[in-house]
Amino acid sequence: MTLRRNRLIHLTLSIAVAAWTADAIRVAAQQPRPADRAVMLLDGARVIVGDTTPPIDAGAMLVENGRIAAVGRSGSVKPPAGATRVDLAGKTIMPAMINAHVHIGYEGYTSWGASNYTPDNVLDHLEREAFYGVGATQSVGSSPTAAALQFEKDQRAGKFPLASRFYFMPGMAPPNGGPDAVLREATTALHVVNEVSTPDEARRSVRAMANARIRQVKIWVDDRRGTYPKMTPDVFTAIIDEAHRHGMIVNAHATTLADQKAVIRAGADVLVHVVQSEPIDDELLALVREHKPYWATVIGLGDRTEVCAPDPFFEESLPASVVAAIRATKEPRPLAPSCGPPSPNAARREQMLTNNFQKMIAAGMRLVLGTDAGIHAGHTFGTADHHELARWVELGLSPAEAIVAATSTPARLIGIADMGTLSAGKSADFIVLDANPLEDIRNTRKIVSVYLRGQRLDRAALRDRWRRR
Ligand SMILES: [Zn+2]
Repeated sequence: MTLRRNRLIHLTLSIAVAAWTADAIRVAAQQPRPADRAVMLLDGARVIVGDTTPPIDAGAMLVENGRIAAVGRSGSVKPPAGATRVDLAGKTIMPAMINAHVHIGYEGYTSWGASNYTPDNVLDHLEREAFYGVGATQSVGSSPTAAALQFEKDQRAGKFPLASRFYFMPGMAPPNGGPDAVLREATTALHVVNEVSTPDEARRSVRAMANARIRQVKIWVDDRRGTYPKMTPDVFTAIIDEAHRHGMIVNAHATTLADQKAVIRAGADVLVHVVQSEPIDDELLALVREHKPYWATVIGLGDRTEVCAPDPFFEESLPASVVAAIRATKEPRPLAPSCGPPSPNAARREQMLTNNFQKMIAAGMRLVLGTDAGIHAGHTFGTADHHELARWVELGLSPAEAIVAATSTPARLIGIADMGTLSAGKSADFIVLDANPLEDIRNTRKIVSVYLRGQRLDRAALRDRWRRR
């Protein structure tokens, strides 16, 4: 990257940040923060803790000042005088989920692209994740850095209404490489991707991120079947080495068997995607056993959207016109939703996924929820999370394992100390369900209410707003 271009980007970002800050203040003025700080005993529900400890069948959870004060069997948790008791007999509570891989900000439902990228739209996407029980959401490689840092700061300062907590990481690719063609158009317009050609450039770029206290970085190591320039091993090795010197975590987009081996060997901490075009081999599995990377499978991206099913759960946050348009589309569209007959490759893909997923899990991959939501309307913010969980169970995971991969494991990966489990001291971020997801993972869709920091999310108001569009 030339100096001149750096300056231009800096100037563009400065203007963007000024606009963002003004917008943030406007949003805050419209929506005063709820002052709900009641002490609340949630009593009688089955409590799914979110780690490997067994569920508490008739449990109780005490919430004070937005935090979990105590969790135990019903009757064993003594509330202080004046606490509100909420009877949840027959219900299940589980931790709010954490989505470690989305592309936030560009989706407009009736339009898509860089012009939609505003703090209001980022907030809207985080509200959609929250509506569906996702308490933290990480945007991976596609968010403009200065604007994203500003949004994180503003949200932590309480300037926005209740929504999923925002996390992000910058992305790195060779010049003209990186995201898929649609996403690349938007990220190029906003100068998002850090383009590097040499190990030196790569190290400088990572050091700049470390100086901005950024903890994670995404790399694209993929030539998209020979249509893109590919990140070379000397460059990704330099990125990973420099990132690790600064305590940073590297997420690697790698879709082929050879690329997955190469990035794990180089020390990548998180693998994105499942190899779908060929069976994996013992060499990859040996590398997995040795390194045990985290893994965002984003399987749903290649699936038919459940809007076709039709499942009303998937329609709650979509304008009716978008639902109708998806259902009316019968021809297959790569990376875009359609409801035609299944692709002729579907059975082969499923067989490959089942084989490769099960072997990778058995070898010790540390699964984390990620959806790639945001690259088009079919795998919508929030709904895609529930789809991914159900897919893991179809591919052989137990519902309990799927829930751990959507809660405590991504909390550990992202470093969110106060989320991921329902235990004393954590933020009171949880979902109340009408049925037990340990019996049927699709019961995560039976949402009664969502609480973030001890406050109940007004899901009815959000639903009304989205349906009016
Ligand atoms: Zn992605």
